[in-house]
Amino acid sequence: LSSKLPHVGTTIFTIMSKLATDHGAINLSQGFPGFDCDPHLLDLVTKYMKAGFNQYAPMSGVPVLRERLAEKTKLCYGVEYDFEEEITIVSGATEALYAAVTAVVKNGDEVILLEPAYDSYAPAVLLSGGIPIYVPLRLPDFSVDWDLVKSSITERTKLIMVNTPHNPSGHVWNQNDLNTLAEIVQDQDVYVISDEVYEHIVFDGRKHLSLMTHPILRERTFVCGSFGKTFHVTGWKIGYCLAPKELTKEFRKIHQFLTFSTATPLQYALAEYLENSSRYLELPLFYQDKRDLFLEGLRQTSFKFSPAEGSFFQMVSFGHLTDESDRNLAVRLTKEIGVASIPVSVFYQGKTDHKLLRFCFAKTDRDLEMALEKLAKLS
Ligand code: PMP
Ligand code: GLN
Repeated sequence: LSSKLPHVGTTIFTIMSKLATDHGAINLSQGFPGFDCDPHLLDLVTKYMKAGFNQYAPMSGVPVLRERLAEKTKLCYGVEYDFEEEITIVSGATEALYAAVTAVVKNGDEVILLEPAYDSYAPAVLLSGGIPIYVPLRLPDFSVDWDLVKSSITERTKLIMVNTPHNPSGHVWNQNDLNTLAEIVQDQDVYVISDEVYEHIVFDGRKHLSLMTHPILRERTFVCGSFGKTFHVTGWKIGYCLAPKELTKEFRKIHQFLTFSTATPLQYALAEYLENSSRYLELPLFYQDKRDLFLEGLRQTSFKFSPAEGSFFQMVSFGHLTDESDRNLAVRLTKEIGVASIPVSVFYQGKTDHKLLRFCFAKTDRDLEMALEKLAKLS
């Protein structure tokens, strides 16, 4: 068979998690919580399963969940979305991203991706016959170089994919980013996919600026979110896409034939769980403690870093310690020191030699402390 994705192998997240298991290392590589969700959420799922909510959900998601999501969106961002025509429940943000790309991109369309970019973006674009145009984020803080974005736009540009809070850097967008993007898309008539799966994980009193809060962006953006990240249930694969009516209509045509609908009892359980807003409003503080614990320990290591502004990832640089590649070091740390991480170069298409590793701190305090103790031995 001639491959449709000849340059794609197994994702680094799978590779590093397996390596961690094989070597009994503490797994700070793949981004998933190392602790369980609120037991009440599990009780709610059981409740709805036992009550017989076990058949197909409506294609766009159960209405009560879409209503609760509209309320959450209004509360957090002050923006209204019509739950009937502008909100779709999907099987994880990965599906939302894929369906949105598929809805927009036609053969030969150019799509701007900001690198380092989450690994599912480019394959989705390629499978729709799109052409990814890679624009590097500005080091060391991974802010957007808007002049570079502007100069990368052509008459064939159809879409820009963005991600704030950013995986892997933890960088968070400011109002100027939103304003500049709005000017660009308005002038050029391009669409936006905004990956906001870490919307509730921001630090030091920051506020997540959803793209929907800008009226121009509200009209042409697919905002993608994930309950997996917010409620510590990444294995449930359940997320959402918020988009204006016209875009949602096209989005649902794809979703309809990709998965059709998403697990019914999970949707009802999440709808009830969302009734209490503290369950997501308290998430920044929960993760702030973890980030601070991790940073405290990192100061005892030889790595250099600047604190993540959001997400549950912390990047560190090691170029002053060794000349080896980030892949090499990630593998060596897993095997020899017993801590698994992700080499940041995997988020780039071309060859890069940035000498950066990404650690996930969504882990138990004990695992973080043990990992830090091990990392302190590296000099
Ligand atoms: N986007 C980003 C930036 C992510 O980090 C992840 C998962 N870690 C996803 C999308 C996918 O989310 P989901 O698990 O809900 O598909
Ligand atoms: N998004 C997660 C990460 O960045 C991994 C999800 C996956 O394994 N596909 O680590």
